[in-house]
Amino acid sequence: MRQVAIDVLFQEIPNEICLGFFMTGCPLACAGCHSKVLQDAAAGDALSLETFDAWLQRYKGLASCVLFMGGEWEAALPEYLGLARRLGYKVALYTGEERLAPALEQMLDYLKTGPYVARLGGLNQKTTNQRLTHVPTGTDLTPLFWD
Ligand code: SF4
Repeated sequence: MRQVAIDVLFQEIPNEICLGFFMTGCPLACAGCHSKVLQDAAAGDALSLETFDAWLQRYKGLASCVLFMGGEWEAALPEYLGLARRLGYKVALYTGEERLAPALEQMLDYLKTGPYVARLGGLNQKTTNQRLTHVPTGTDLTPLFWD
């Protein structure tokens, strides 16, 4: 697991303050990718479980949700999601995939699916192919991004 940025995010998940981890190694190569560095598996710095734990301890009570973006298919991801949940965070994943393994999906509170397609636009466009779902209820939250 490698990251190129860690940031507090206010707009990616409705009504949540997210501690966002931008992970490298995304193989999807969407045309118009918002952050091509996420496609480079060698970019960024290693994110050990110990370092991840330290970030979560630092933001406990400040951020409500942990959000992974980019190289999210990493086999180690469930261990990281589990730690975040044990510390009281909700957990979210932005993936360009259309579907996830059910065991991984069931760990999540929020899941964004679908590759970025420039002619359709992102979540804030009514034409978008992408969807943000509240996993426990199956509610499609995508319309909340539309003005
Ligand atoms: S899924 Fe996201 S990070 Fe990966 S190539 Fe597409 S836009 Fe870029």
